[in-house]
Amino acid sequence: MKSVRGIVLSSLLLLSGCAVAFSKNVGESEQDSSLPVIAQDGEVVGIAEISATSVQELVDQFYQNLVQETDEYLVVKDFSSKEELVNHLSKYAQREFAEKQVNSLYEEESGQLRLIAQETKQPLQETEEVTLNKISDTEYVATQGNETDLLGVQTVEMVFVYENNKWLISDSKSYPDLADDYMSTLALINKRYFLPSDYVPVELVEPNVPFTFEENLPKKLMVQEAALALEELFSAAKKDGIDLLAVSGYRSYDDQTSIFAWNSNLHGEEEANQFSARPGHSEHQSGLAMDVSSKSVSYALIEEFGETMEGIWIAEHSADYGFIIRYPEGKEEITGYTYEPWHLRFVGKEAAKEIWREEITLEEYLGEM
Ligand SMILES: [Zn+2]
Repeated sequence: MKSVRGIVLSSLLLLSGCAVAFSKNVGESEQDSSLPVIAQDGEVVGIAEISATSVQELVDQFYQNLVQETDEYLVVKDFSSKEELVNHLSKYAQREFAEKQVNSLYEEESGQLRLIAQETKQPLQETEEVTLNKISDTEYVATQGNETDLLGVQTVEMVFVYENNKWLISDSKSYPDLADDYMSTLALINKRYFLPSDYVPVELVEPNVPFTFEENLPKKLMVQEAALALEELFSAAKKDGIDLLAVSGYRSYDDQTSIFAWNSNLHGEEEANQFSARPGHSEHQSGLAMDVSSKSVSYALIEEFGETMEGIWIAEHSADYGFIIRYPEGKEEITGYTYEPWHLRFVGKEAAKEIWREEITLEEYLGEM
């Protein structure tokens, strides 16, 4: 248990280079915008030089300014709207890129800007080498291979463009290393910890279990280890006379965006937040989750499923196959979500059994509350 906690915490720190730099940012956000990428003698003659070092500095400045100092209620001190902060960040990045990052970290509430997620991933790590590739006189791509416990080995690509006499961050992407199919089965994904928008699990496969629909949709997929465990779970249920159906597994970042927008529209953002994940905050993006249901509740994802024969069987036996009921009843304060007896999350047998035995949540198991 102790060692598990250590691994997960260090991976979260790696992912959250910015979160540990809260107090450091105060003064720096007031710095002027002259960037080291502009010609060093102060004269702008043609296009300024770009180097691996200057690219790293630009990225550092952007991310240091992205994570703003907040008060005890997580209200940002120096900016009161997303637009103000985006304007500020436009010194370092193209507007669209800045908007995307600000939207994933903050929300506006009665004239205040509030931090909703404290972790973000600074794409280029100082400790690793950066390779610069020239696309044109005004566009470069910086590439770096880096590794985190949570996401494994990844290749990060950042695009830089020359605009209005300075270099700006234009885009950032990361690709999992295909030779490395490692993704921690204990990854914590919730309202605080989230996955990058471009994160796609390596090796998504379709578990051989009955689904509530026929079409070949991405939501049939899970990462291989979880898919095999789900097959075992379903066949054990079958032996006990329990007919389960799979409803929804993998969900991409873009699908989460449309689903959250749809729910916000229908229920208002505050209510939607109680049951619907913001983009990047859904466990379904990890390929480790599957929603299940049964005929007795007309295959719906509703609380009543927990009272059915199938729901009771799931609660009793899923840990034997490495799954937990991720959002148990009465743990809303810890998980941030209302009771979902249908949402199974694969964490591996050892963790699942301890979580089941102790009647705790993944947050409590990992010591992250
Ligand atoms: Zn779910």
